[in-house]
Amino acid sequence: MQRVLVIDKNKQPLMPCHPARARELLHKGKAAVYRTFPFTIILKEREGGDTQPMAFKIDPGSKTTGMALGADFKRGKRVIWAGELTHRGQQIRDALLSRRQLRRSRRARHTRYRQARFDNRRRPEGWLPPSLHSRVENIWTWACRLNRSAPLVSVSLELVKFDTQALQNAEVSGVEYQQGELMGYEVREYLLEKWQRQCAYCNAKDLPLQVEHINPKLRGGSNRVSNLTLACHDCNQEKGTQTAAEFGFPEIQKLAKVPLKDAAAVNATRWALYARLQLSGLPVEVGTGGRTKFNRAQQGYPKTHWLDAACVGESGEKVYITSSDTPLLVKATGHGSRQMGRTDKYGFPSRYRLRQKRHFGFQTGDMVKAIVPAGKYLGTHSGRVACRATGSFDIITATGKVTVSHRYTKVTHHADGYTYKKGQGAIPPHA
Ligand SMILES: [Zn+2]
Repeated sequence: MQRVLVIDKNKQPLMPCHPARARELLHKGKAAVYRTFPFTIILKEREGGDTQPMAFKIDPGSKTTGMALGADFKRGKRVIWAGELTHRGQQIRDALLSRRQLRRSRRARHTRYRQARFDNRRRPEGWLPPSLHSRVENIWTWACRLNRSAPLVSVSLELVKFDTQALQNAEVSGVEYQQGELMGYEVREYLLEKWQRQCAYCNAKDLPLQVEHINPKLRGGSNRVSNLTLACHDCNQEKGTQTAAEFGFPEIQKLAKVPLKDAAAVNATRWALYARLQLSGLPVEVGTGGRTKFNRAQQGYPKTHWLDAACVGESGEKVYITSSDTPLLVKATGHGSRQMGRTDKYGFPSRYRLRQKRHFGFQTGDMVKAIVPAGKYLGTHSGRVACRATGSFDIITATGKVTVSHRYTKVTHHADGYTYKKGQGAIPPHA
């Protein structure tokens, strides 16, 4: 069960509690709701209390980042809160592209002469494209938020795809790998990167790939990484006991001898995040993608972002989850646009936005709950609101869009650049 975050009357984090306990405290008036997402209560009288060390675990992804709060219990780590953070990289890219196109067309009109300036941009050290930068900022925002309401003592981050240290000389000296062992997972991640995640023989993508011996084991081929490649099931079967050259791919043997540069394991965004997280002052444990997969597979957990986060690093070896553990789905939406004049598809100004952002005490992006007593949209709706000056609001709910009056609507969480939804459990209830 997703625990409820608790802070004391001085807003210092305490140990998260069970939802039933939170309900009891709220019912007795000993606590108040401090924040809806993530659900946090504030105790009215209590000051300080015993806390156990908790870790914030992160599996950064290009579209979605898994987050988990793990606490040490007697049997190992227990996930007490989990979330999945969806980034808005594509949205940012599209917005910048549209801005660039508008400006370009304006310049191309040649309505006035201005001296060309194109050599006046300098990128600072460690610059990241805005779409990637937003990922780092999103995760940092959540690290700070959770740090304020949970007694965090450490951060675990999946920093690289595979262990470069262990594989550094693997091409030369060789590693004995075995399926199902940690090294096997590291090797697999390495090979995926080296062979661009596709079958070396037919270039098929997005299907299960098998680790394949270029010179087959039967013919004396070794387990060295320089003798391994990835093949789809069909190619692997077809190749059988032939060498790659005999199979008609002499270049594969040559390509396999070229070691992958260290840089391939490194992802600029993750390093930027790593540098940023170190500013938090908390110790940052780092893990590899190979290790995450190994930990998850060993424990038989399905592949979800939040479970990957829970399994990051050495501390992810023993993680307990239950069927009632569900993640909070968080989606970055940004804080709206500054554009006052909206254009039609030809770039012609067609409509204008009001300077005023708040209407009837609501703002686009607020999470709201509406109880509609009658009419087409009779019932209770909750979701993200889009406001109109007329007072007729649109609410994006889990099932679709409804249009309701502001009179039936109540804010549950003020706009903070994210929307929230309850996620599904990872393992079926009977398991
Ligand atoms: Zn193939």
